[in-house]
Amino acid sequence: MAQYLRFVEMADSPSSSDSSDPPQSEDAPRLPRPGSAPIRDRYDAIVVGLGVMGLATCRELSRRGLRTLGLEQYDLHHDQGCSHGSTRIIRRAYSEHPSYVPLVERAFDLWRDTEEESGQTLLNTCGMLTAGPAKGRIVPPVLATREKYPFDCELLTPGEVNERFPAIGFPLDKDLVAVHEPGGGYLYADRALEAFASSARANGATLLDCHHVRHWTEEPGRVLVESEEGTFEAPFLILTTGPWAKPLLSQFGIEVTLLRKLVFWYLAENEQLIRAGTMPSFAIESPRGIYYGVPDNHDTPEEGLKIGRHDNTPELLEIATLDSGEEMRVERWIDDQEDLVRPMIEAFAREYFAPGLLCGESRELVPSDMAVRQYCLSPDGHFLIGHIPGSSRIAAATGFSGHGFKFAPVVAELLADMAENKPPTPGADFLRLDRLAGSARTGR
Ligand SMILES: Cc1cc2nc3c(=O)[nH]c(=O)nc-3n(C[C@H](O)[C@H](O)[C@H](O)COP(=O)(O)OP(=O)(O)OC[C@H]3O[C@@H](n4cnc5c(N)ncnc54)[C@H](O)[C@@H]3O)c2cc1C
Repeated sequence: MAQYLRFVEMADSPSSSDSSDPPQSEDAPRLPRPGSAPIRDRYDAIVVGLGVMGLATCRELSRRGLRTLGLEQYDLHHDQGCSHGSTRIIRRAYSEHPSYVPLVERAFDLWRDTEEESGQTLLNTCGMLTAGPAKGRIVPPVLATREKYPFDCELLTPGEVNERFPAIGFPLDKDLVAVHEPGGGYLYADRALEAFASSARANGATLLDCHHVRHWTEEPGRVLVESEEGTFEAPFLILTTGPWAKPLLSQFGIEVTLLRKLVFWYLAENEQLIRAGTMPSFAIESPRGIYYGVPDNHDTPEEGLKIGRHDNTPELLEIATLDSGEEMRVERWIDDQEDLVRPMIEAFAREYFAPGLLCGESRELVPSDMAVRQYCLSPDGHFLIGHIPGSSRIAAATGFSGHGFKFAPVVAELLADMAENKPPTPGADFLRLDRLAGSARTGR
C-alpha cells in the first residue's frame, strides 16, 4: 500500500534516521535513503502529483525551457483525486473573494491558448447563472465582486430566468436574484488533463506514472526526491499532491478537510431544454443548500444534466469526511452517502427546475449516472499556494476547496515563477500558503 508523503527534511534538520520516520515493520521493504541511492536523473524542476495542477505546471515549466520531471503515484487517468471527470464550471461571478476575478481573466486567456495549442475544444461558454436570495450567501458577494472587478453580466428576475431558460422554474414568491454571465460556462476536464500532458511531453517533460514519492530531502543547492523507482534531483520541487498534502500541511499547523463528493446526472423528458446553449451552467443557493450544475452536452460519456451539492451540512460532513486521500479507495459508506445526498438534490431539482423536467411522469428522480470525487478544503476556503514554511526550494499548491480547476494554468504560472525565482505575481498574495501556517514544525 502506498504511504503518505509525510515529512520534510531540511539540510539542518535532525538526521534522516530521526523518530519522524514512518514506522516500518520488520517485513517492510527497506528503501534506500536519499543520498545513499544513486541519483537516477537530474532535472531543473520536479513536480510531484499529476492532477490538473501538476500537469498544467509540468506544461508551463517545460514550455519555459526547464528540464521537468512529473511524478504521479497512480496511473495518469486514475479517479481517486479531485481532477478527473468530464466537466468543471468556469465563471467570473466569484462570491468567494473578489481577487479571484483578475486571476480567472488570466485563466480564460490561458485556456484559449491551450485550446489553440492542442487543437481541442476545452471551453464551452454556454453561460453561467448564479442565483440566490437577495440577502443570501452567494449573490450579494458576487455583486460586490462585480463592483470591484466589473465583468460582463446581467441581473435577471426569477420570471426573466424562467422565460429565458425554459429548463429552470424558479419559484416566483421567493426573493431571488440571478446574475447571468454570458462568458461563463464549463471546461472539459479530462480533455484538459490530456492536453496539458501532451503539451508537457511535446515540450520535453518526463511524466512518470506509478511513481509514488515517499520522501524528499532539501540540501544546499538541491532537493533529492525519492520514489520507489529511484531518486531524482532538482534545484526546485513542486508539490501538487491535492488531498495527499494533508499530513504535510498538518506539520505547519494547517488542517485541511478531505471530503468525498458525489455528483449525479439526470436525463430530461425534453432533452433539448437541458442542452448547453439552451441552458447555462449554474450555482443556485436555496434554503436547502448551494447546488451547482453543468448542462448536457453530447460530447462527454455521461448523459444528462449534472447536479452536485457544494456546501455541507453536519450530517454530510460526518459521512463524507476522509482521514486521508487514500480513503477514496475504500468504498465504505458510499451507499449511505448516496441515500443522504440524492434526496437533497432531488428536492432542490423539483423546486428550482421546470415542473416535470427531470422526472417526467414518474414520482422518483432516478439519476442516469453518478460519480465520486474528492474535495480538499482549506481552513478558509481559499487556495494554498507558496513555498512551504522554512524552505526556498520547495513549493506546494493544494487546498483548492472545490473551485480550483478553472485556475490550473494560472496556478502553473505562479509555481513556475517560484521555480525560476521570479517576483510573485501581484494579486495572488491572498492565496499564500504561509498565511495560515501556525506554530509550525518547519523541520528546523
Ligand atoms: C465534485 C467536484 C466538483 C468540482 N467542481 C469544480 C468546478 O466546477 N470548477 C472548478 O474550477 N473546480 C471544481 N472542482 C475543484 C477542482 O476539480 C480541484 O480544485 C482540482 O481538480 C484540484 O486538483 P489537484 O491537482 O490539486 O488535485 P488532484 O487532482 O487530487 O491531484 C493530486 C495528485 O497527486 C498525486 N499524488 C499525491 N501524493 C503523491 C505522491 N506521494 N507521489 C506521487 N503522486 C502523488 C495524486 O495521486 C493525484 O493524482 C471540483 C472538485 C470536485 C471534487
